[in-house]
Amino acid sequence: MKIFSLIIFFGVFLAGLFFAFKKDIWKAEKKEIILNYAEEKKISESVLKKQTKEEANPENLDEINKKEEKTKEEIEINQKESKNSIDDSSQRKEETPDSSQDFEIKNRLVSWGYSISQNRSIDTIILHSSYNAVGDDPHNLDDIIEREYKPAGVSPHYIISREGKVYRLVEDKNIAYHAGVSQVPDGRKNVNDFSLGIEIVNTGKESPNSAQYKSIQNLLDYLKNKYKIKYILGHSDIASGRKTDPWNFDWGKINKK
Ligand SMILES: [Zn+2]
Repeated sequence: MKIFSLIIFFGVFLAGLFFAFKKDIWKAEKKEIILNYAEEKKISESVLKKQTKEEANPENLDEINKKEEKTKEEIEINQKESKNSIDDSSQRKEETPDSSQDFEIKNRLVSWGYSISQNRSIDTIILHSSYNAVGDDPHNLDDIIEREYKPAGVSPHYIISREGKVYRLVEDKNIAYHAGVSQVPDGRKNVNDFSLGIEIVNTGKESPNSAQYKSIQNLLDYLKNKYKIKYILGHSDIASGRKTDPWNFDWGKINKK
């Protein structure tokens, strides 16, 4: 009987140690992920500030003010559209490619994490990984979007849920803040300016699943059809040393051509 209680005692003690340790790891991961997101935003903001500074001389202050007002207006419209589009089946139909019936892009447009652009050219696609580090379910999309991206002021253009559903958060034409300090192989920097960002929901301990690989391929095919794409790369390819995502991604499972 004595031995039995000793075993129970040590069992509880070891479990306690394990959870205390695990909690610390999660805390560290959470801190890191939030820092990571903040980094993406800082860069984008500094680029924006630099651009604004360059434009800011007394003669065109009026113009800048007008521009800012216009941006606000457009963000409001964007927010309205985002609300409307949730149940707007006609828009969904229009945005979904005809060729593949099981591929659908759901609009879930956000009001942060991007700057408005009209005529940018897109020739690069960057893949990322995201997971929910602030709530209990690592795959919870609402937490990832509302509790991680939103406070950090960042966003990808698309996110692929663990179920393989594709959501559009930022329209292609706008510059989403997803890449941070980065450079593509031909030497161009500020990759946000000419790229589309796709986030795949998976933790560093798991791979994307088959439903996600299927949707990634559908989305890539759809985008390659729309734009002349030069690069399809991972975040780690354009920000090596700083970024390691997309995590556990098997490039052999997708067709880049
Ligand atoms: Zn990334």
